[in-house]
Amino acid sequence: MSRVFNFSAGPAMLPQAVLEQAREEMLDWRGSGMSVMEMSHRGKEFMSIAEQASADLCELMAIPDSHEILFLQGGASSQFAAVPMNLLRGNSKADYINTGAWSKKAIAEAGRYCEVNVAGSSEDSKFTTVPKQPDLNLQADAAYVHYTPNETIGGVEFPYLPETGDVPLVADMSSTILSRPIDVSKFGVIYAGAQKNIGPAGLTVVIVRKDLMGEVLDGTPSMMNYQIQADNSSMYNTPPTYSWYLAGLVFAWIKDQGGLQKMAEINKRKADKLYAAIDGSDFYANPVDPDCRSWMNVPFTLANPDLDATFLEEAKAEGLMTLKGHRSVGGMRASIYNAMPEAGIDTLVAFMAEFEKRHG
Ligand SMILES: *Cc1c(COP(=O)(O)O)cnc(C)c1O
Repeated sequence: MSRVFNFSAGPAMLPQAVLEQAREEMLDWRGSGMSVMEMSHRGKEFMSIAEQASADLCELMAIPDSHEILFLQGGASSQFAAVPMNLLRGNSKADYINTGAWSKKAIAEAGRYCEVNVAGSSEDSKFTTVPKQPDLNLQADAAYVHYTPNETIGGVEFPYLPETGDVPLVADMSSTILSRPIDVSKFGVIYAGAQKNIGPAGLTVVIVRKDLMGEVLDGTPSMMNYQIQADNSSMYNTPPTYSWYLAGLVFAWIKDQGGLQKMAEINKRKADKLYAAIDGSDFYANPVDPDCRSWMNVPFTLANPDLDATFLEEAKAEGLMTLKGHRSVGGMRASIYNAMPEAGIDTLVAFMAEFEKRHG
């Protein structure tokens, strides 16, 4: 068996220890005589898996009692609609900050349900930075403020937490959740598709302030109603049980690594190494404002784009996979979430130097 370093933006690498444990437990989960995939979601075995996952996430992120954790389906993209449906609460206006491709999708979807005020945008910079706090044009009577702390495609992240006063802050954390500690109490809603930093696709984690639940837009499907999901412990219907189980294994793995403070240290070191390699050469470039560079997604270009295909081919031969940049950006992109070992960065950096020597 040989495993590669997979730099995919998502679905992304999972920790090897998690995959090994899942393999170990595949046919017979802890003496139950069945796979987690075959269990009733209402049976005591799966209930214990679900509760442990929730408790571990709560502990890792220090989620206060004021907030509810939901394990849903539909991906982050369903939350683009669920957020206005649940948070407008009789209001008709919401503020959105536009920092790239995922913000734009959230804005387009919200526009079907409310009046969207784009309270700040970095489009003029081609999304290589984020708007600064004093430049945000926030409305005091908005239902909420939505932003994307880490833009997965552009590789740009907020170096600060937007201050929104009494207006609830909503964050699409799909590509940054669990990469470092955050103060959950500052957020109205945090949501994330699992397939980047949590577990397999099919699961969406939503963390919502309890006092914001309960008043939904007319016509909101029950499945998208946070209150109904909370009242049913995220089991209004059959939840994505196996994804939930694997997410639980990932949470336990992060705890074993030393928690989010430790993940932050490792992630910063990994990102610093890669940016240093890019900045230390005229052969590679990253266009993002150094203050706003993502720890998780690192896009870079070669001085000569004619070499892109050769770069990808030779990288693949070294076991460095899925480095092709997003079709809208071109070049390369290395997604280096929690599960990417530091050895993956070291191997990539060494390959880049060697490639430059031969082709630069
Ligand atoms: C991947 C991603 C999404 C889309 O997630 P789905 O779960 O596929 O809907 C949304 N926002 C961000 C920031 C992402 O990285």
